[in-house]
Amino acid sequence: MQLVDSHCHLPLIDGGDEGLTGIVERAGDADVTHMLCVSVDLETFPDVAALAVACKNISASVGVHPNTGTDVKEPSADDLVNFAGVESVVAIGETGLDYYRSDGDLSWQRERFRVHIRAARAVGKPLIVHCREAAVDVINILREEQAEDVGGVMHCFVEDIDTAHKAIDLGFYISLSGIVTFKNADKLQGVARQLPLEHLLVETDSPWLAPMPHRGKQNEPAFVRKTAEFVAALREESLEDFATCTTRNFFELFKHAV
Ligand SMILES: [Zn+2]
Ligand SMILES: [Zn+2]
Repeated sequence: MQLVDSHCHLPLIDGGDEGLTGIVERAGDADVTHMLCVSVDLETFPDVAALAVACKNISASVGVHPNTGTDVKEPSADDLVNFAGVESVVAIGETGLDYYRSDGDLSWQRERFRVHIRAARAVGKPLIVHCREAAVDVINILREEQAEDVGGVMHCFVEDIDTAHKAIDLGFYISLSGIVTFKNADKLQGVARQLPLEHLLVETDSPWLAPMPHRGKQNEPAFVRKTAEFVAALREESLEDFATCTTRNFFELFKHAV
């Protein structure tokens, strides 16, 4: 059996004495054979890219997170296109809109999101989209910027089924994180039951959002198995089928990952 952690932040995980080797080993013990390490700013992108070059089980992305403030270097489409040419970069992101953790006039977030979509279309690589309390604007901007040319993933999905279908219509996949395992997540669990398996991915978003029974502790890629087990049971599917499909989905979407 093979599982993929479609979204993690490895440089932010405290790996203890064994560091990255331990994280990758524990992932392997849980049948998590591949992980996509996601960038949040250009300053730390070289660390992300280096991990992916050092370890064949790791792919990388390049992007500036919507909650990374305007005090850092604002990426131009050219910056992103250049970095996207680095070996092992399989996607653009994470990008998107977050109206929960940022406030005030957020036109800079929307402009940054558009720049990422243009870069993704220029290099022909898919998008990793973060969306929090901004579903209407996210879908509108994806449409306006013709994101369907490259597709991507709505990561750490917590929106309703209607939003999921709008994203799927644009060629996007829906990725579930440990949030779906939480006791108060009945609404999201209802959505998880209805999502088409051929558009589903799983992720940790580690070091945050550890699934049950690890909630509140540091998360790491091995724990994506807990989320996969939970969602498979919820959908009354076997873990093996769920793993096979979500892993196939991952490599279909991120064609440059090997
Ligand atoms: Zn995110
Ligand atoms: Zn993330």
